[in-house]
Amino acid sequence: MNATGHRTRLICSLSSPSFRQVREGMLAAQIKGADMAEVRLDLLRPLPDANTIRDLLASAPLETIATLRPKRQGGAYEGDESTRLALLQAAADVATYVDVEDDVPLSQWPRGRVIVSHHDFASNAPDLERLVKTLCETPAEVVKIAFTANSPVDAMRALDVLHHANKPMISIAMGEAGVLSRLTCAKFNAFGTFASMDRESGTAPGQPTIEEFLNLYRWRRITPKTELYGVIACPVAHSMSPAIHNAAFDSCSYDGLYIPCLVEPPAESFDAFMDAAISRPHLDWRGFSVTIPHKKHAIDYVGAKNCDDLSVQIGAVNTIVLAPGKPPRGVNTDYAAAVDSLCKAMGIERADLAGMKISVLGAGGVARAVVAALAHHGANITIHNRTTQRAKELAEEFACSWGELAYAHNTPADVVINCTSAGMHPNLESSPLDSIPTGAKVVFDTIYNPIETKLLVQGAARGTRTVSGLEMFVRQAAEQFEAWTQTPAPLDVMRNVILKRLSPD
Ligand code: NAP
Repeated sequence: MNATGHRTRLICSLSSPSFRQVREGMLAAQIKGADMAEVRLDLLRPLPDANTIRDLLASAPLETIATLRPKRQGGAYEGDESTRLALLQAAADVATYVDVEDDVPLSQWPRGRVIVSHHDFASNAPDLERLVKTLCETPAEVVKIAFTANSPVDAMRALDVLHHANKPMISIAMGEAGVLSRLTCAKFNAFGTFASMDRESGTAPGQPTIEEFLNLYRWRRITPKTELYGVIACPVAHSMSPAIHNAAFDSCSYDGLYIPCLVEPPAESFDAFMDAAISRPHLDWRGFSVTIPHKKHAIDYVGAKNCDDLSVQIGAVNTIVLAPGKPPRGVNTDYAAAVDSLCKAMGIERADLAGMKISVLGAGGVARAVVAALAHHGANITIHNRTTQRAKELAEEFACSWGELAYAHNTPADVVINCTSAGMHPNLESSPLDSIPTGAKVVFDTIYNPIETKLLVQGAARGTRTVSGLEMFVRQAAEQFEAWTQTPAPLDVMRNVILKRLSPD
């Protein structure tokens, strides 16, 4: 058990071919906050002799695992097996642990503390239970199993192994889809998890850095009771939601962890992920953010009877709330966030939207949520879209007017709301409008990257009040936080996380 309350070691894997860099890397890993270093002896060039290995490991400022992985198990060692085992034995004299592959005959295992390991780079270990049983029957002190994740469901299978473990274990689903197995294993007192030094030096796909473990994913705060949340998306790597929600949990001392979940597009993958999450109470899943391409799949999964009326009208939810013993609930926080951002900027109540002339640009998912909410509050809406047929269909559904995007500047409006992607990073020079309609008092761009779009610059130049999509983004996240935790969201903390990420240095 370490000083922070859990025993799971943060292990930095060092994969440099240079002795000097590995020596420096051990020190750097310790300074960055790792508990242990894995030294990949097979990657060093030239291949070290026994004395060099002892010297290198003896100089380590933190606990070590010595690994000399043969090619047949995904490593770089190509020499003969007896030399490899002799070198591992030399490592075992000094290293805290040695990693020995499960195909090495028991009689030849080096003395010392042994981690028996099995790596499957080709499949998701369909015979996982049998494999784990075999590995656990060996005399090794620690069992390590790493297999390829086809989806986050495989990551949950890796966590099941830890949940049922009767000896110290490392259980990892490799790849971006498996990252939750790396991030949450401390909940089950795993022996350790692997972190890379920095983005460039990762030894395995999906391996977060030490800094990400400690600062973004609250590694030192994870307890067996930590409740899990995630963003379901594809792609998910660039989502800012883990940063915003983990910072909010931290500032409220809430025992939660928020993780990216890469779920592929078909609805079947979404359903399989949700079924796997809900059928594992030991994981303590309490909620999900849902984004492209799963917002409709989410409402289909939870069912209309478990969503509010406006979400059903929109046909999409971006939030799922899970509570033990209750059916999953769907919430759409996008529409409320859009309406509240606008009302706050104008200093009005939602009821004051009745009769207000509002031009909505776009007819995609965000436009649909915005139009549904504004129509609900009685605004007088005109929808303009590049593909006019889509504007017409959306307008007919919510009893609005519609028109071509190219003529939107001629439509009289008190408020213009951009729900198109025109102007979104990296297309900073585009704008959905050539000019702002005469008489417009407010221009609201739902785009949040960049914070100040070309459209907002045009609006400011005309003296209109401008509202960035940043406010909507922060508010939709804040409403998710409140739906999950029943606690007021720390809006300023959440806003500052996004501002820091999006503001130029
Ligand atoms: P979507 O469903 O793909 O819809 C995209 C919309 O943008 C469509 O109306 C499309 O017109 C239009 N469009 C795309 N490129 C265009 C261009 N070059 N010129 C004019 N119109 C163009 O996407 P969405 O989910 O609604 O997202 C739309 C925007 O909302 C995104 O840019 C995003 O930044 C923003 N957003 C903000 C938040 C927030 O919290 N602030 C959350 C989510 C999204 P066609 O129908 O003609 O293709």
